[in-house]
Amino acid sequence: MKVSSWSIVVAAGFSLFAAASLSAQPFSSLSPDVREYVTVSEPVVALANVRVVDGTGAQPLEAQTVLIQDGRIAAVGPSASVQVPEGARTLDLTGHTVIPGLVGLHNHTFYTTRGRSVQLQHSAPRLYLGSGVTTIRTTGGTSPYHEINMKRGIDAGRIPGPHMHLTGPYLTGMDGGATMAQVSTPEEARRIVAYWAEEGVTWYKAYTAISREALKAAIDEAHSRGLKFTGHLCSVSFREAVALGIDNLEHGFFTNSDYAADKQPSECPASMRNSLLDVDLEGPEVRRTIEDMVSNDVALTSTLAVYELSFPDRPPLEQRVLDALAPEAREEYLDVRKQLSERASESTQPELFRRAQRFERMFADAGGLLASGVDPTGIGGALPGFGDQRNYELLIEAGFSPVEAIRILSLNGARVLGVDDTLGSVETGKQADIVVIRGNPVATHGDIRNVTIVFKNGVGYDAARLIAAVKGQVGLR
Ligand SMILES: [Zn+2]
Repeated sequence: MKVSSWSIVVAAGFSLFAAASLSAQPFSSLSPDVREYVTVSEPVVALANVRVVDGTGAQPLEAQTVLIQDGRIAAVGPSASVQVPEGARTLDLTGHTVIPGLVGLHNHTFYTTRGRSVQLQHSAPRLYLGSGVTTIRTTGGTSPYHEINMKRGIDAGRIPGPHMHLTGPYLTGMDGGATMAQVSTPEEARRIVAYWAEEGVTWYKAYTAISREALKAAIDEAHSRGLKFTGHLCSVSFREAVALGIDNLEHGFFTNSDYAADKQPSECPASMRNSLLDVDLEGPEVRRTIEDMVSNDVALTSTLAVYELSFPDRPPLEQRVLDALAPEAREEYLDVRKQLSERASESTQPELFRRAQRFERMFADAGGLLASGVDPTGIGGALPGFGDQRNYELLIEAGFSPVEAIRILSLNGARVLGVDDTLGSVETGKQADIVVIRGNPVATHGDIRNVTIVFKNGVGYDAARLIAAVKGQVGLR
């Protein structure tokens, strides 16, 4: 009786989701190159006796069973009451925790040190997936066709990697970076947005030198196509960008030029950093920024892991990071890290970092939608996936509870991308993008690194095998 009524519910659920299941990707559709990373290939799988942190912010539930069927979560509940169909593969996950697949909103597929910028066509997709990041938004490409082709390869089952949301190149002003679209007029901005829309991007990212006029035109063009806009800004302040209709702002407090007294229109003020160190966090100016963002539904992307690299003697050095890096990239990172350490007493970064953490907490407390991403750039110590996991600890350091931090890393990202009806949490009916972790990251935060299996579309990938495949490759390919 119980089984049959439950089956009806599941059947109804599946027909409801049929239209949305564009990314269904059964094991049978994967190429041999991807299958070599798969450790759970059966269509019906029960994750039994496991702790569930479902990504909604709810408290962990013990002794649960998560039933995966044909790429979807068919049931979640106490192990004693979830009916496991005959023939299912059951994994006894006593001592393990499951969380939703992470949704990384600032997750480049390129990587930098102070000496290099390298497209990680091989290592980024494997590192993301192996670290439990099952969905990424690229948020500025230095080689957009690399990313378009990576996404095609992943969607076709030829490359192991996360679901990808593409942004195309950065849009900036005339003195921007060499790989960026340097936009001088509103017409040019519209033309560039239109071109990349045709190429399949769904988001755009503005950068620090864009003019207000060009940004306005670009946002309007994107919105007219149903596409969205984010920015790592400076020449346009947060409140100005909100007024122009932007959907998301990257990096939080660090890139906010609202408080620079010498701010000229469309110019990045030299005093921005000092203004961030000086402004009263509890004062009216900061409150106005947050109020503008919240009342206009502008999301904020936290990227603490990359900014922490400028904080002397942080983060703790991890052997797995050193192992994944190519020898030259490792040397470049450790070299700059040493320089920062030698000048630690003069550094204002610790104070700025604490302020940025406080700002993120205030934004979320005010009802703002806070998500996160790694941003594997800067001096090169925040690696794809590994840095997303570090964000978990840094958000907890900022004052979020572990379950809140998990929500920021998963469901909130899905909400920003507008895919939260199909993924982002461990709930019945959703796509089976699930991370299995040995231990309990709620009690022992560092356990977030102990990823053993990553389910994407219900197919279980061996995390260790994916990470092993990039040994010595980050910084090369
Ligand atoms: Zn970035």
